[in-house]
Amino acid sequence: MLTQTLDQQYLAHTYNRFPLEIVGGKGSLLRGADGREYIDLGSGIGVNIFGMDDDEWRNAVTAQLGRFQHVSNLYYSEPAAKLAQMLCERTGLKRVFFSNSGAESNECAIKAARKWAAEHKGPEYCSIITLRGSFHGRTLGTLAATGQDVFHRDYQPLPGGFLYAQPGECEALERLAAEHPCAAILFEAVQGEGGVRPIGQEFASCLQEVCRKHDLLLMADEVQLGNGRSGSLYGYMNYGLQPDVVSTAKGIGGGLPLGVTMFGERVADVFHPGDHGTTFGGNPVCCAGAVNILSRIDDRLLEGVRERSDYLRRTLQAAPGIRSVTGMGLMLGLEIDIPAREFAERALREGVLVTTAKQKIRLLPALNIPMELLKTAAQALVHCAAE
Ligand SMILES: *Cc1c(COP(=O)(O)O)cnc(C)c1O
Repeated sequence: MLTQTLDQQYLAHTYNRFPLEIVGGKGSLLRGADGREYIDLGSGIGVNIFGMDDDEWRNAVTAQLGRFQHVSNLYYSEPAAKLAQMLCERTGLKRVFFSNSGAESNECAIKAARKWAAEHKGPEYCSIITLRGSFHGRTLGTLAATGQDVFHRDYQPLPGGFLYAQPGECEALERLAAEHPCAAILFEAVQGEGGVRPIGQEFASCLQEVCRKHDLLLMADEVQLGNGRSGSLYGYMNYGLQPDVVSTAKGIGGGLPLGVTMFGERVADVFHPGDHGTTFGGNPVCCAGAVNILSRIDDRLLEGVRERSDYLRRTLQAAPGIRSVTGMGLMLGLEIDIPAREFAERALREGVLVTTAKQKIRLLPALNIPMELLKTAAQALVHCAAE
């Protein structure tokens, strides 16, 4: 109780928190200050991809914590170099910039696109096309990139140079790219915060084609969907896309803050010393943890993600009170008959933690959640929906 009182008195009221204080946990079972156990289908908004207090990840982190904890980016350090190599070898992309969050990873992508276009096509080619319903972060730049007016309202003026296209409307996108001097298209293969909406194969192919035709960079925001959650290493891979820039964060850190921006051949050498930077980005402790996380996102794990996804879809699609199940892999959205917040509070009372996305329930369980726990949680959700 004390924590909730202190929080409400001293923290900025930016979050509509659930009435639950987490005090610990293991894997996909979290312990509340109320003494109850909860099955976690949110994993810290897709961060704890191997669950809470994962042994292997914690060992990697604490081993590095015992060696050295922070060096500035003025010096070389092994964990960042090793992680960058692994990321490039797994994706075919060429270089990596590390930061501390998803928003920063997108800021870096936007800066890279602007600089690339200015040098490659001319400074007027500065516009970046994003999609309606997207979410790219909370900094002023990534807010401007976010194609949802509700996020823009109180923060004018926002940086300019963003154009918004309606997902699924290829001709309108093509027109936008033809009529404005643009640098890039930034997209989520499945819009997460915007309501767990996959862009679909046809529109995905359209993005690639418009980029080819108008000499734009294709930039995938894989902050939420990336790092195994989609059932492939990165979500764009499910659509056979070849982005020039890929940003990610959330799951790659496994529970510590880490942002990643990856550059393909066309943009690999856009930045020179002094062009971009960060104090904490590439922190050795975060990177050592991420090396462990990435090394475990293998075929067997991805197979498990797809199995769990199939199970959830089968079970929930048929349930009374659930109108549809959308998404990809272990990023699933449930369209339900009651307000999402009310459903989430019901689930909490039943001992299951879920998140919401617009009017949907959003499920982002750990990628290794034990099948037994997943079944128990799914039954609880079916029960909540039928109530
Ligand atoms: C969460 C999210 C972000 C922002 O990440 P932060 O770490 O909160 O800055 C950006 N893009 C997408 C797709 C996200 O889901």
